[in-house]
Amino acid sequence: MSLRHLISGAAGFIGSHLCDRLLAEGGEVVALDNLITGSADNLAHVQGNPKFHFIQCDVSKRVEGADGKFDHVWHLASLASPRFYLMYPIETLESGSTATQRMLEIAQRDDARFLITSTSECYGDPLEHPQKETYWGNVNPVGERSCYDESKRYAEAITMAFHRKFGVKTNIARIFNTYGPRMALNDGRVVPAFIDQALHGQALTVFGDGTQTRSFCYVSDLVDGLCRLAKSDERFPVNLGNPLELKISEFAERIQALMGTTSPITYRPLPSDDPKQRKPDITKAAQVLGWAPKVSLEDGLRETVNYFKGRLASA
Ligand code: UDP
Repeated sequence: MSLRHLISGAAGFIGSHLCDRLLAEGGEVVALDNLITGSADNLAHVQGNPKFHFIQCDVSKRVEGADGKFDHVWHLASLASPRFYLMYPIETLESGSTATQRMLEIAQRDDARFLITSTSECYGDPLEHPQKETYWGNVNPVGERSCYDESKRYAEAITMAFHRKFGVKTNIARIFNTYGPRMALNDGRVVPAFIDQALHGQALTVFGDGTQTRSFCYVSDLVDGLCRLAKSDERFPVNLGNPLELKISEFAERIQALMGTTSPITYRPLPSDDPKQRKPDITKAAQVLGWAPKVSLEDGLRETVNYFKGRLASA
């Protein structure tokens, strides 16, 4: 008998790839999304699949029509890009709070496994480097980014509370910067921003002096990590990310070289509370899940650039 999955944020970048993976494994997927930042286009190729059902709804308000019993509940709904969470701070807080509780209640009701996609932003502007799961973070609770950071920290807290109080079988993934096809072109994050700028012959906008670092994980690796985690009995957070760390200025140069663009680099003000460095320690993911990323930055970026070229050609 095939597993039944309930996924919030299913029309988003990572959510849509997770749908593909679970359908490929023979599962049945009930996909929820309010389409505030997700796109129906990301799921167009699975519409018509009898094992796939899409429901447009705002999980922070109510879940309607997701009938029957589920084996796995996945809470991915979130406004993950700084551009979007600054635009929708209340909705961002709700996705971590009321929406998380609603999805946990469904998992409790059905005795289903529950997985939440949390974030490296729980570490804030980290004073430990690279970041291990045991680090408690350095977060500004009233800064502009707090709507995202604190929403995810609350989401982790309520997930642990449902596990401790009701015995719900929960997993917490702390996702580091992830990229790949189906990111929104206008999403504002550095990967789509630089690729879009290069494709349009515009200057690449490096914020600050470009010495801040990030580590980029390709989406297929990330989804593989999520699927392994969802089968494990690890209740505490697990980092999922690629430990290859680059300065943002170096990343801009990689994009220039890969795309053969003559677009220059231009410097813009650094957003407030922009973390200075970020790199996952993935020892725990290796030990507990036998997981490590496989896709090189060059291969992943090539796939992503091809995707964006296709989107622009069909626009
Ligand atoms: N960034 C940049 N130019 C852009 C967009 C982002 O230099 O056009 C920087 C941003 O300031 C941050 C890093 O790239 O230091 C990653 O930003 P992103 O929004 O992708 O994700 P974050 O890790 O900040 O959530």
